[in-house]
Amino acid sequence: MSLDDNPELSLVIPCFNEESVLPLLETRLRKFLGDCGISWEVLFVDDGSRDKTFELLAGMHRAEPRFKVISFSRNFGHQAALCAGLAYAQGQAVGLLDADLQDPPELFARCLEKLREGYDVAYAVRRKRKENILKRAAYSVFYRLLKSVAEVDIPHDSGDFCLMHRRVVDVLTDMPERNVFLRGLRAWTGFRQIGVEYEREARAAGSTKYPFRKLLKLATDGVFAFSTLPLRLATYVGFASVGLSMIAGIFLLIWKLANFQLLGHLPSEVPGWTSIVCLILFFGGIQFLMFGCMGEYIGRIYGEVKHRPRWVIGRALGWGDRPPVND
Ligand code: UDP
Ligand code: MG
Repeated sequence: MSLDDNPELSLVIPCFNEESVLPLLETRLRKFLGDCGISWEVLFVDDGSRDKTFELLAGMHRAEPRFKVISFSRNFGHQAALCAGLAYAQGQAVGLLDADLQDPPELFARCLEKLREGYDVAYAVRRKRKENILKRAAYSVFYRLLKSVAEVDIPHDSGDFCLMHRRVVDVLTDMPERNVFLRGLRAWTGFRQIGVEYEREARAAGSTKYPFRKLLKLATDGVFAFSTLPLRLATYVGFASVGLSMIAGIFLLIWKLANFQLLGHLPSEVPGWTSIVCLILFFGGIQFLMFGCMGEYIGRIYGEVKHRPRWVIGRALGWGDRPPVND
């Protein structure tokens, strides 16, 4: 293996229908990588784009062979694209970056410094976000919730944008997990990690590729992969409802024996069915909630045991005689 095969820096950039932003991205990357003075490669992972993304990436590869391309056979999702990039990156340090320039590639200069100082992971922390207020509020609630329930300490307001040492990347790529929440797994690996602050820009061009559905999937993967609190909740609620019904039972017995008026009724009268229906509904609701909660885990266990590949590669450019194989 020649030195060229092991660049000092690999950047992994997932792209899904990003034709409008790629020319801007190319300019910014060329400028930054040209100035950084180390050997590098960029892995673009085309996540089954339906626009001109692949053609543009192919053009970029022709002009600069260090821009390599992996193209999925269909859309497998952002996290799968990042995992594929990590699996095929050969750099001593590997950076993850979104294509839309919300995360400035120039920040990697500061991250590289941190790695030279001896840190294993430098993750970007968003100081300010330039997104709409609803999205900002949702992110804030989610990160707080995650922090309070997660079993590992996932840093607040840090996304996937980060630079990792090879030893961390090796741990991540060895993980057999399918439903990944990379920022959580990254925190899980341990090592010496440090946050680097930056201001999150608005998207440079095009529109978000993360509709609410995908965002919700990511958020639930984060919570359910890093916390068993929702499952334990069933036990707590079960205990509470048993306790409450025992208290209520004792109280009703006393009422019956002492025969006093409660809300204008004596125990000898037949009480209305409203209260019973309310109780049935309440506990029925809780049961469904808990079934749903267990379903979330069972669904994920099913997903894991199927052991399907996380991605399938359709085309690849820039790999010479060692093309990347499927997951
Ligand atoms: N992306 C992807 N596959 C998807 C959705 C998104 O590879 O199914 C990429 C997208 O091209 C971008 C990054 O993931 O580089 C983040 O997406 P986006 O910027 O649209 O998300 P947002 O910043 O709006 O949350
Ligand atoms: Mg974005």
